[in-house]
Amino acid sequence: MAKRVAVIGAGAAGLCAARHLSASPDLFSVVCFDMSSTVGGTWNYTDLTGKDEHDLPVQSSMYKNLRTNLPKEVMAFPNFPFQTSKPSYIVHQDVLEYLESYAAHYNLYKYIKLNTMVTNVHSRPCEGERELWDVSYCPVSAQDKILTQEFDAVMVCNGHYALPLYPTIPGMEEFKGQVVHSHDYRIPEIFRGKRVVCLGAAASGQDIAIDVSSEAKLVYLSHNKARLETYLPENVKQKLGIQALGPHSVIFLNGEEAEIDILLLCTGYHYHFPFLSEDCQVQISDERLTPLYKHLIHIDHPTMAFIGIPKTICPFPQFDVQVRFFLSGLSGRFRLPSKPDMLSDTERDFQRRLSEGLPPRYAHVLGPRQWEYNDELAQLADIELIPRVVQKLYDYVHETRVKDIVHYKNRNYKLVNSEDFQAL
Ligand code: FAD
Repeated sequence: MAKRVAVIGAGAAGLCAARHLSASPDLFSVVCFDMSSTVGGTWNYTDLTGKDEHDLPVQSSMYKNLRTNLPKEVMAFPNFPFQTSKPSYIVHQDVLEYLESYAAHYNLYKYIKLNTMVTNVHSRPCEGERELWDVSYCPVSAQDKILTQEFDAVMVCNGHYALPLYPTIPGMEEFKGQVVHSHDYRIPEIFRGKRVVCLGAAASGQDIAIDVSSEAKLVYLSHNKARLETYLPENVKQKLGIQALGPHSVIFLNGEEAEIDILLLCTGYHYHFPFLSEDCQVQISDERLTPLYKHLIHIDHPTMAFIGIPKTICPFPQFDVQVRFFLSGLSGRFRLPSKPDMLSDTERDFQRRLSEGLPPRYAHVLGPRQWEYNDELAQLADIELIPRVVQKLYDYVHETRVKDIVHYKNRNYKLVNSEDFQAL
């Protein structure tokens, strides 16, 4: 009998899961749940911040002027290029359109329950090694009307850019200016003429600081990374991290003090799975999820997978390989290692990070290691590798970006074949 699989979320990760599940109807049946009224997840821009019309937290972190920080040529799912003659760095509307066309092309809408929120996932032991999952859900417009359905497996694809991480900064309570998290950042106009400190300079922090600088009087880009050796607009100044806040000022780590009006936090997000009951046995400590094999499969409940946990990666291609890896195991085509072996593999990966001086909260940050990780998944399960050209172009655009975070998006690229690209 086909295995019944619940997919939680119909963003890029959930759509990819639904696509590969629905391709093998003899092996799997799929129900995909999403609390939004449309597919695409975080690419659904909204002016709203805080709560939505159903009193639920707004999921999307998109801002109005966002252009992708990766060219569309590397963002695409394997074998499904962006059908657009637009430049390489596209606007968020183009990505949403792409995800909608992916859902339409693979005929996924019939499996997706929109406006439907998963409220609880409960593990129920069954005969032998077998385990069942009770997934409870409700319409977002009638949250007391809860239904429960039984599944053989669960794929958690709920994203991790919805619950902001607020750092503790001495003096924050006395600060009289405005504090905005990037999750709630929408338009630069509200910063017109203001002095802003933008804390955090990962990809979105850099992009948002540049967007804000079009309206702000002054932007301090405050971070603890190595100094960015890049061109910056005149009103953007790089500073060290923040030591403390005064009622109207910021004190940087070197003791320098500056008057500011707004603190903009580009400090990231928490992993958050409010629907997992205790019997799912998922722990989150210091932004590390355990016990996960390859940042993906629950070691104690291997019929549960989490797609999209790694950070600093090329998302869509990696979702695709993660989904295919998990489904190979679920269908029995590939046999997962024993639990002790999966645990020791996970621990080895974690200890290697610590020995390199990384803090525990970097447990799922892959960065340059993502390609080795993707290849390892593909080789273990004997599935197709991500084409080499994706890494090649990703690495190349990274080089152009670090040199000039303002203008790197003006460049265009074309894939020549699965190995090579051309800079236009
Ligand atoms: P999401 O898109 O967040 O989707 C999760 C879905 O789960 C949502 O639709 C949500 O409604 C649903 N959901 C959550 N909880 C429940 C529940 N209880 N019940 C039912 N449904 C639920 N990536 C790139 O490749 N290029 C870029 O340029 C780029 N720029 C980015 C800029 C910003 C500001 C952000 C936030 C992200 C960016 N990303 C970019 C990364 C982006 O997050 C990924 O590309 C990808 O879209 C994530 O997809 P996802 O499916 O994991 O999560």
